[in-house]
Amino acid sequence: MRELELGLQLPSPLQDLHDDRLAGVRLFLKRDDLIHPEVTGNKWRKLKYLLADACASRASTLLTFGGAYSNHLRATAAVGRMCGFTTIGVVRGEEEPHNAMLDAAMSDGMQLHYMDRATYRRKADPEVIDALHRRFGDFYLVPEGGSTEFAVPGCRELVDEIEQPFDVIACPVGTGGTLAGIAAGLAPGQRALGVSVLKGAASLDDDVRSLQLDATGRVVGNWSIEHRFHCGGFARRSPELDEFLGDFDRRHGLRLDHVYVGKLMLAVFALISEGAFADGSRVVAVVTGRPPAGSG
Ligand SMILES: *Cc1c(COP(=O)(O)O)cnc(C)c1O
Repeated sequence: MRELELGLQLPSPLQDLHDDRLAGVRLFLKRDDLIHPEVTGNKWRKLKYLLADACASRASTLLTFGGAYSNHLRATAAVGRMCGFTTIGVVRGEEEPHNAMLDAAMSDGMQLHYMDRATYRRKADPEVIDALHRRFGDFYLVPEGGSTEFAVPGCRELVDEIEQPFDVIACPVGTGGTLAGIAAGLAPGQRALGVSVLKGAASLDDDVRSLQLDATGRVVGNWSIEHRFHCGGFARRSPELDEFLGDFDRRHGLRLDHVYVGKLMLAVFALISEGAFADGSRVVAVVTGRPPAGSG
């Protein structure tokens, strides 16, 4: 894919983080949030090979799904504009006053289609997809979150970009595509740690395994998911999280989003203080995206 032409900053930078709470651990930030101003970093990596597949199958329209605050809808709209696809976004729920995310998707030319919650839950059913085809004609279907087997080789490249030796690489987990790809790229002795941003999402472990199986034909056991840091559930925040993020911004001049990266970083620092990483460990935390513009 023509990454340079598209104005993507790749490889994304790796930064050494200095913080007096690190004890004997060295922490690096993989700044995927800097890849592109409109395409969330990990969304580009997840979509890259899927777009190549869409091109190969001569598709000109992408149809995908998301909630009203979905980074994935926003990223698909931007990528569609950049790469010349028409895009349709199926949004969960009734139409509401627009937020910045949907406005941005629309200004990238995405056509929005609202779907009631009951139908949305059945969005993978053939009848629901047939109805969408009757309405919109031909399209290439991108599942919610963009986690298909194509996410795995794309996210794996993130690991290949890191020249610095490391022991553990940590990322947030929404649908698990990013974690599955990262784990697929590790060398022997390295491990990946996912931090679930969803409450009670024990099935994520199976999701990661099946993504790995689909993409590479095998499951590797060099990863695990931490389920303790969802702070109340998806997109919820807790006083502890807000306090941590305010403090992190003051220390490092870096505002983290509270949906994904904030929970990742909260988890990494909690694990460090619990002594979960051996002295001298080199840990990479993937900053998968940035807070939406105008968010507090
Ligand atoms: C979508 C998203 C994730 C979740 O990635 P999955 O592959 O779905 O687990 C993580 N971080 C950011 C910033 C995202 O936008």
